[in-house]
Parts: sequence; C-alpha cells; structure tokens
Amino acid sequence: ALRGHKGWEKQWTSPEPRAEYDVIIIGGGGHGLGAAYYLAKEHGITNVAVLEKGWLGGGNTGRNTTIIRSNYLYEESMHIYEHSMKLWENLSQDLNYNVMYSPRGVMMLSHNVHDQQSFKRHIHANRLYGIDNEWLTPEQAKAYCPPLDISASARYPINGAALQRRGGTARHDAVAWGYARAASDRGIHIIQNCEVTGIRRAPDGRVTGVETNRGFIGAKKIGVSAAGHTTTIMKMADVRVPLQSSPLQALVSEPLKPIFPCVVMSNTVHAYISQSDKGELVIGAGTDQYNSYSQTGGLQIITHTLDAICELFPMFRRVKMMRQWGGIVDNTPDRSAIQSKTPVPGLYVNCGWGTGGFKATPGSANLFAHLIARDEAHKFNAGLTLDRFRTGRLIDEAAAAAVAH
Ligand code: FAD
Repeated sequence: ALRGHKGWEKQWTSPEPRAEYDVIIIGGGGHGLGAAYYLAKEHGITNVAVLEKGWLGGGNTGRNTTIIRSNYLYEESMHIYEHSMKLWENLSQDLNYNVMYSPRGVMMLSHNVHDQQSFKRHIHANRLYGIDNEWLTPEQAKAYCPPLDISASARYPINGAALQRRGGTARHDAVAWGYARAASDRGIHIIQNCEVTGIRRAPDGRVTGVETNRGFIGAKKIGVSAAGHTTTIMKMADVRVPLQSSPLQALVSEPLKPIFPCVVMSNTVHAYISQSDKGELVIGAGTDQYNSYSQTGGLQIITHTLDAICELFPMFRRVKMMRQWGGIVDNTPDRSAIQSKTPVPGLYVNCGWGTGGFKATPGSANLFAHLIARDEAHKFNAGLTLDRFRTGRLIDEAAAAAVAH
C-alpha cells in the first residue's frame, strides 16, 4: 500500500558538518536532540550540531519500555521529573508530532510491609509537593488492572499498590524523531554516523571542538548526552564521572487484543509491564550484574523476569515472546542523574539517568539547554551536580529507581 507514496519529504536534513558550531551536542538520543531543540526554541542558539555515532534513537531512547512517572522521593528529583511530566502533557502539540503520550496510570505493587511503608512515604512526599500519587487496596488495584492476581494463594500476595494516574507511556522513536524534525526546522544540524573520537582543548583548558570519524569539528561549547557511553567520552577530556555502564534488557510478546490497561511494576518480584498500541506486552527486566557495552544481556535475567510476570498475571503463561534486546544504562552510585558543568571550561555533561531516563527526556533536555546556554544551572537541575559525589550531598533514589523505571 505504501508503494504509491513517492517523494516523501525528509523529516530532517542531513547536512555536511560546518567547520565550527556554537554548541555541539554529543549523542542523538532523546535527551541530546531535545537539548538542541530547546537551545534553539528557548535560547535563540541555532548554530548547533547534534553528532550521533549511529542512528537517531538507536541508543536507550529506542530500546526502553517507555514508562513515564514523576513520583520520586527527593525534592531534586521531583522538581525535574514533574517538570518533565508537564512538558510530556503538551509535547505532541509543541513539536507538532504525535509522540503518543498516554497517561494510562502507573501502578507500583506492594507485596510486604517494607514495600507498603516505602510507597506510603513516597505518596506523602509527592502529595506535599503537589504530585499525584495514591494508595490503593488490593481490590482497588485489581479494579484498575483486572488481569492482576490478588488471591491470597499467590506466591507473592499483593497488600496494596501506589498509583500515579498521570503516569503512563509514550512512543519512544517518535520522541527522537519529533525532536529531530523540530530542531532541524529551526536550523540545527543533525549529523548521523558521526562518532566522536576525541575532545580537543586549548592551552588554557577550554574546549575547542571534537575529533570525529568525519574529521575535526570546532565548537565553543560541548554538551555530552551519551548515556551508557558517557565515561568513554568524558575520558577524552580527562574528566572522570562516577558511572557504571551495564546492560538492561526488555522484551515484547506477540500482539494481543487490548487486555492490559495501565503500567504495572513490582520491585519485589522484579518486573514491569504495559501493552503497546500494537498489542505487544512490553516487559522490562533488571540490569545484568556485570558492566558491559554489549547491548544484549544474560538469558537468566529475562527468564527470571518472565517467571515474575507469570506469577503476577497467570493468564499470560501461554503468551509467546517475540523480540528481546538490551541497552546500556549509566548508573550513578546514588541512582540520580548528573547534569552539570565540569572542571573543563565549555564542557557540560548530562548523564546518570540509568534505568529511568526516558520519562525525564523533555525535562532533562529543557534544563540541559538552559545550563549550556546560560552557563548556570536552573533551580530544577541545580542539585544534580557532578561534585555532589565529592561533597556528599547525594540524592539517594535507590528505592524509587530500582526496578521501578
Ligand atoms: P541514548 O538514547 O542512549 O542516546 C545516547 C546516544 O549517544 C546514543 O544514540 C549513542 O549512539 C550516542 N553516542 C554514544 N557514544 C557516542 C560517540 N562517541 N559519538 C557520537 N554519539 C555517541 N527509562 C524510563 O524512564 N522508563 C522506562 O520504562 C525505561 N525502561 C528502560 C528499559 C531498557 C531496556 C533500557 C535499556 C532503558 C530504559 N530506560 C527507561 C532508561 C532510558 O532508556 C534512558 O535513561 C534514556 O533513554 C536515555 O536517553 P539518552 O538520550 O540520554 O540516551
């Protein structure tokens, strides 16, 4: 049916790199593309290139399970994730691109007293901040998600759940493509198949540009937004970043008729699940226990996840799985992101979103653009500094960001 559709306009242009840009963003995922878009839209900076070593969204942006929520514990996190949530709510209109944001609700299952106490603490903190989050009884949880097994004979019985109704999902590729098209329309250069291999600096230490497989490209400022590859890039400028990169896997089932109305996650049995608009069950696993850049992952991790899913939703036991893949997530010791200036003048870093940065995409991109344009943090990303690992002002989101993406 598509054969007759000829002469489709390209969504973004693919120009030859200029000799120099005001800003180079390294990494064509949602965060990098979004930062370029907001640099143009909100700060009038359009002499910008996004350099991507592969294809747009080929990193974690196109590999994640797209869970969106803002119910984190600490104020620093709530600021940024809620800022993001508000941008999600209007993103399709802003970009004139349907990112298929679907606020279908994110439900976090509680299986024991510890879960219950922890979720209730989150609920209270969130509500104080004006973020929606509520406690459900097992019966209310089942009413919200009928496939859920709440019987007392379940191996991990459910004693309640926390529900953020405004949480949900979006279409990951559309986010990358929507930002790319909108940025390109504003004059930003999107350059794919362009791998950064070095960062050049002047004698005073300031950045002057990047070495790439397409030659040297000059830049007054450089923003690194490369998720799991951040440490290798920052090393090019002799900056150490406290990150560990490891594989995180996901998988999808054969398409089913609409059966699963929301997003459900369980920290205790370690699984999260939703249903895509195509009908596939989208299931996320945990990180592998070793560091790697392999974009695959151990078989035992996904079999464990499927055990957990079948435990919670016995009706899915006969569903066949169709595809599996992995991404490389960049975890910080306190499980909070870093969005910061660095000791190198002109070099900025956005990383450490680990297993949960898709939801942050619009907010992170927006605030990273602010940081680069003004050379100072916005009040919403002011706490995400690199030096908190030296000063000890950590933002411990391990409970909110464990399996809970
Ligand atoms: P990426 O999309 O990874 O973009 C970085 C880009 O940098 C890549 O395209 C890469 O090719 C490029 N790059 C790297 N090195 C170079 C170089 N030398 N030169 C040029 N370019 C380079 N988050 C959620 O909020 N909800 C979820 O449900 C969720 N589930 C997940 C499930 C899985 C399986 C995975 C892997 C991740 C999940 N995440 C989730 C996390 C989320 O995907 C990431 O935090 C987020 O997408 C990061 O976006 P990004 O733009 O920073 O990185």
